[in-house]
Amino acid sequence: MIPSTSPASARAFVVGNFVQACCWHVPRLPHPGETLEAAQLQIEAGGKGLNVAVCLRRLGVAVEVLIACGDDQAADTLLALLAREGLPTTHVHRLPGASGWGTGLIGADGQNCIAVYPGANRLLSAAHAQAASAAIESAQLVYGQFETALPAVEAAFALAHARGIPTLLNPSPWQAPPPTLRQVTHTLIVNQVEAGELLGLPEPLPVTPADLAPALAAALPGLRARWPATRRLLLTLGRHGALGGELDGDGRWVLWHAPAPVIDAIDTVGAGDGFASGYALAVLQGQPLSTALVWGNLCGAHVAARCGVLEALPDAGQFQSLLASAARLRAVQLRS
Ligand code: ADP
Repeated sequence: MIPSTSPASARAFVVGNFVQACCWHVPRLPHPGETLEAAQLQIEAGGKGLNVAVCLRRLGVAVEVLIACGDDQAADTLLALLAREGLPTTHVHRLPGASGWGTGLIGADGQNCIAVYPGANRLLSAAHAQAASAAIESAQLVYGQFETALPAVEAAFALAHARGIPTLLNPSPWQAPPPTLRQVTHTLIVNQVEAGELLGLPEPLPVTPADLAPALAAALPGLRARWPATRRLLLTLGRHGALGGELDGDGRWVLWHAPAPVIDAIDTVGAGDGFASGYALAVLQGQPLSTALVWGNLCGAHVAARCGVLEALPDAGQFQSLLASAARLRAVQLRS
């Protein structure tokens, strides 16, 4: 069941995560034991859940976010950011120990090498989600991802599912999802790597939507046995946009493809979070899957065309411009 809501009253609950990310831009990746001078240092608050919460808020949605941070300086940065973005901190938990931290070395050729310490994100529990039950049960959409301890995602989704509230899961970084989570997930959003794992598609996956759609159509009927509550699957395809499958009333999967706007891609990190936010906004406004895929692509491409992630997430004004400039972008239904 997808609710229809006016933008002003749309409410989302995000099971979030927070990583203080430090990116060092180096001429090339160093050899073991070697020290290199970095040309640039970028420090940014990150995390899939944080990105989606910030983007939905900027797009005009009332967002409650469940998030864990440590008792360190990074946590102060997070709290200041949430205040700036107008996100309430009712369900932000400051726990003993370090926040999540990430370090990335980025070579001039774009190659990178990343280490992430999950810190407080690992400590978020089912009890933290249950303590937010009133906010979860009054939302029209609940979003979760795999950078947070899974029991918190499971508990939030279980509360939402029991009330018929759609749950949107980005199972990234991929790990085998627990059965209880599979029973309460309405929509899955995956990139090509995760789609291979989720659907057991043979590697390497075809690149173009036309080549990929038959493989997806063949694999989707088998999803039902493992993901009994899942009614939609969204597969993001970078510059090729996104495919979306929806289960109809007769138990058949109907497939759509929406092209992405043509852009000069500068930094695709966070493009998937932009896509998830645009898609969620459309769902909150009662738009059909075909429109939601287009809105997802508009926000994803907006992020990919800019440096960084937080800075690149669109706000409501930018989204209106994106809609106006891409009035001719349409999703097409594919023959299955
Ligand atoms: P992820 O970042 O999660 O791996 P993708 O690379 O598939 O996911 O990108 C997510 C979405 O961002 C795409 O579906 C598309 O809407 C947009 N996007 C990403 N790269 C580009 C690009 N080069 N041109 C246009 N849109 C893009």
